[in-house]
Amino acid sequence: MKKIQMTTPIVEMDGDEMTRVVWQMIKDKLILPFVDLKVEYYDLGLKHRDETGDKVTIDSAEAIKKYGVGVKCATITPNAQRVEEYNLKEMWKSPNGTIRAALDGTVFRAPILIDSIKPVVRTWQKPITIARHAYGDVYKASEMRITEKGKAYLVFEDENKNETRTEIYDFECPGVIQGQFNKDTSIKSFAHACFKYAVSTKQDLWFSTKDTISKKYDHTFKDIFEEIYENEYKAEFEKLGITYFYTLIDDAVARVIRSEGGFIWACKNYDGDVMSDMVSTAFGSLAMMTSVLVSPDGKYEYEAAHGTVTKHYYRYLKGEKPVMNPMASIYAWTGALYKRGEMDGNSELYEFAEKLEKACIKTLDDGIMTKDLTLLCNNPNAVKVDTETFMDEIVKRI
Ligand code: NAP
Ligand code: MG
Repeated sequence: MKKIQMTTPIVEMDGDEMTRVVWQMIKDKLILPFVDLKVEYYDLGLKHRDETGDKVTIDSAEAIKKYGVGVKCATITPNAQRVEEYNLKEMWKSPNGTIRAALDGTVFRAPILIDSIKPVVRTWQKPITIARHAYGDVYKASEMRITEKGKAYLVFEDENKNETRTEIYDFECPGVIQGQFNKDTSIKSFAHACFKYAVSTKQDLWFSTKDTISKKYDHTFKDIFEEIYENEYKAEFEKLGITYFYTLIDDAVARVIRSEGGFIWACKNYDGDVMSDMVSTAFGSLAMMTSVLVSPDGKYEYEAAHGTVTKHYYRYLKGEKPVMNPMASIYAWTGALYKRGEMDGNSELYEFAEKLEKACIKTLDDGIMTKDLTLLCNNPNAVKVDTETFMDEIVKRI
């Protein structure tokens, strides 16, 4: 069989632990036999990040800027215990955080749906994608505990030391205050990433804040989205038959629950943090959650939403066969192959990505799955298999 050719490389970022083992298996079994794979490879395994002083992470982010498409395996974000376990020179930052900052990107998370696993919400038939603005607000806020009577102000000092101030509260008893901020540049990047992703996936975009209460802060988000939509994306949306829809966050929650899914829900930082856990749990399983980082200028980095599945790795090191669900990692690859094919006008490549996804779904629909899913699914004939057997069954169906 002649392998599918590629013109431009995909930036491949290898990772850690169980996902690193399964990553290699995905390439060997599901991709390399079919595609003459062109990648620019970066080893983001913790050992190599430590050896390079984390330069490899920065280099990989630069490579994504250059080539436009990346695919990333899950990586360890070190804590004190990892520093000891791997004898690290430093407690390196989260690679995902580093790459997100370098690309100024927004993360979109969407579940993979199969017939035999019903979402908790009965009306949901299509995936709901959450886009979370990952900058500022309460995550970069300054806080103060007030212990006595007195007045709290919000004060802005310009470069010439002129002050603008507004009273927050005249405290008659102890209390708390908090100062939050965001930047127009960051909100604009978020808006562009959301509109671009809606166009790229041909889905409606919803955006929600609480602008009726937060008349300056949240209203700024609403206005920036509105302006960018009107000036830069409206025509494209209309051509594709998709809509941009703004509503209050509480109204959005009610509508999301009653919806059948199939749209992108853009959320401010805190809302996105909370809502993405709610939506992913209601859809079923973290092992079936895909994730893509999109930059405002349209660069894409695909990955699984879950981590390195450490507990499974320790069992694997003791000689047990891998039983990790590889679906989200496979979909990171199909996402990247599809996007590469689309960008390069390489139809063989994106058709292969579609075929591979279909083969995965067919395998699951046939009741062949890893144990995390047999526990959730309502197919009485479901068979529990290990990771390798699951992939062999996918190959039979490609
Ligand atoms: P995790 O790796 O997502 O795993 C948590 C648990 O969820 C697993 O023990 C497993 O449960 C289940 N699980 C997750 N994905 C699965 C899959 N594909 N198949 C089957 N079961 C799956 O989270 P963690 O244990 O909190 O974190 C481990 C490491 O990952 C940490 O070092 C963290 O820094 C890193 N991390 C990386 C990323 C990233 O690179 N994007 C994201 C999150 C965490 P059972 O053990 O019950 O089977
Ligand atoms: Mg959270």
